[in-house]
Amino acid sequence: MDCGRGGFVRTIAGAYDMSMWRIGDVTIHRVLEFEGPLLAPGVLLPDSTEAGIDRHRSWLEPDLLDPATGELVLSFHSLVIRTPLHTILVDTCGGNDKHRPQKPRYHQQNHPYLANLHAAGFRPEDVDVVLCTHMHVDHVGWNTRLVGGRWVSTFPNARYLFARDELKFWQAHYGTEAFADDPYYEDSIAPVFDSGQSETVAGDHAIDDWVRLVPTPGHTPGHVCVEVASGDSRAVLSGDLMHHPVQCAEPDWSSCFCVDAEHARRTRRAFLAEHAEIGALILPAHFPTPTAGRIAAAGGAWRFVFDGES
Ligand SMILES: [Zn+2]
Repeated sequence: MDCGRGGFVRTIAGAYDMSMWRIGDVTIHRVLEFEGPLLAPGVLLPDSTEAGIDRHRSWLEPDLLDPATGELVLSFHSLVIRTPLHTILVDTCGGNDKHRPQKPRYHQQNHPYLANLHAAGFRPEDVDVVLCTHMHVDHVGWNTRLVGGRWVSTFPNARYLFARDELKFWQAHYGTEAFADDPYYEDSIAPVFDSGQSETVAGDHAIDDWVRLVPTPGHTPGHVCVEVASGDSRAVLSGDLMHHPVQCAEPDWSSCFCVDAEHARRTRRAFLAEHAEIGALILPAHFPTPTAGRIAAAGGAWRFVFDGES
């Protein structure tokens, strides 16, 4: 689908951009939580340099790097995969009403996420499977919502799948100094265990004939991508394997949020090389509108060719 590049949808209550892609018998729908300039390159990508950014400024500005603030433009969205058998919601953003004093971007938010889900054609009851590519705060938020002072599952009929290695890592480290700041395990993960909706799966788990997980460790130890295949068409929901298109051109720039920056680098390079060959549609968790695109080899590295661009 050609989504065009014009006019970002920012955080405007009730606003919704319709993004949908067809992969054979499967459709993929983007549900936006928030999009805008958010972090300076040197903050998100500590290995980047001003000279390095200058090399790419001509194609980054204005859509991918905001000239007014000097910040990288990022999107926070879920992707809903509709197969002939299942409705699968991947990554649940930051959520509303969450107490995040240490993470102001996610603190007491009030995004029109459920309205956007509805506009995309889904009710929370329709979702059969929820999958978080990894368990960072901006990928688990809408697992739950606040009802009558209690955190309850947003998707009452869903199984919530967690990759075993990812869950093990967070259960081992949660409560330690680095992860003790905000209560997101308690408000966004524990309630779906308490409700009996959680299921621990292998990192290469197949959800059905069209959708399977692919282990891609580095950003976090149990990070997974989600591969969609139907007939000859393929798509990969790549989570936080990369956060911004500049990382295709500079694949060694890992993010400040990567648990193992070196491992993340190796995984990213292997992924970019493989998918430049295959030509699958790639849908990362934070690439701004139109989010989806393909990887092309370019000058010893790669380029992200957005949907609708040549
Ligand atoms: Zn993220």
